[in-house]
Amino acid sequence: MSSDPNLYVTQPQLPPLEDFVELLKVIWDRKILTNGGPFHQQLEQALAEHLGVKHLALLTNGTIALVTALQTLRIQGEVITTPYSFVATAHSLLWNGLEPVFADIDPHTCNLDPERIEAAITPKTTAIMPVHCYGHPCDVRAIQRIADTYGLKVIYDAAHAFGVRHQGSSLLNSGDLSVLSFHATKVYNTIEGGAIVCPDAKTKQRIDFLKNFGFADEVTVMAPGINGKLNEVQAAFGLLQLREVDAAIARRTAIATRYREALADVEGIALMPEPADTTPNHSYMPIRVQPGYGLSRDGLYQRLREQQIFSRRYFYPLISDMPMYRGLPSAQPTNLPVARRVASEILCLPIYPALSEEQQQRVIDAIRASRR
Ligand SMILES: *Cc1c(COP(=O)(O)O)cnc(C)c1O
Repeated sequence: MSSDPNLYVTQPQLPPLEDFVELLKVIWDRKILTNGGPFHQQLEQALAEHLGVKHLALLTNGTIALVTALQTLRIQGEVITTPYSFVATAHSLLWNGLEPVFADIDPHTCNLDPERIEAAITPKTTAIMPVHCYGHPCDVRAIQRIADTYGLKVIYDAAHAFGVRHQGSSLLNSGDLSVLSFHATKVYNTIEGGAIVCPDAKTKQRIDFLKNFGFADEVTVMAPGINGKLNEVQAAFGLLQLREVDAAIARRTAIATRYREALADVEGIALMPEPADTTPNHSYMPIRVQPGYGLSRDGLYQRLREQQIFSRRYFYPLISDMPMYRGLPSAQPTNLPVARRVASEILCLPIYPALSEEQQQRVIDAIRASRR
């Protein structure tokens, strides 16, 4: 047991060291380190099967996967997206020379509000990039209806949605493409890593070309692709992680249930509604600190810090408030009142498989005791 009194929002999941060393020996013997080697291929297949998706292409990280997903579909002009996300969502648009158009979120799900998406469409709009925030599903049916009506592509930033099932299928089968992140802080990690989920072999091939500088064969370069290949060491790490991920999500579910029970009656602490017809992954444990609590969100954040509990304000500040975005017409505060309010109330609590009952109780006690 660790004696570190600091509690963070997450702690990376690691595979058994001996098993990893075994796979390293295989890599040393084979002398294939990268470029779509055997472990890379094996992990793509294993993940597609595990997640229940048709095709999946591995990439070096979620951000490069977002950038590549936009190139895959040749997206141009304006893309409607959420201000309530990690910066990489909007950055992937700027890296492609696209204009982000921010639309407001739904106050219950924290995901893009379909009505606000429709209101943000212009003749230059070509795509929608929603985020399944905290792994809670977007209104995928309403978004698809809008996309079909206006002839738009939908690329989901599904960085939080590993393993989430919705309406009887993987949530990752929604839209044209879904992008995953396997960063160390995520539910499933390959240290750094990411993937694009796509519905057909032809699209998968295009992604495979784009992540290898655009090489279609030895002498043909089809586009200005990037170096986005996941190496064999990380792919081996990922194969071992896959054995543990169901147990990890089960443990997260137990922790989330305990938080919900222990915090349900604390005045001024609001829990997010549990998504309907969904098997969630509990990638995050968001709470909202509202006026009835007596202490502000930042006040509670500070109180917890003093007790070595490092909660995180995911997502604050809004992407639309950052210097490279705040000049956009859609970034104006009056356009995004709901996102603004949620960003001022949100706090994500520690949740990860190794969090002990005593540690979790410390968090719960600190929140109960800080109310004024
Ligand atoms: C983590 C994350 C990303 C970026 O993924 P990386 O693998 O760290 O590049 C993108 N979008 C969201 C919503 C994320 O949480």
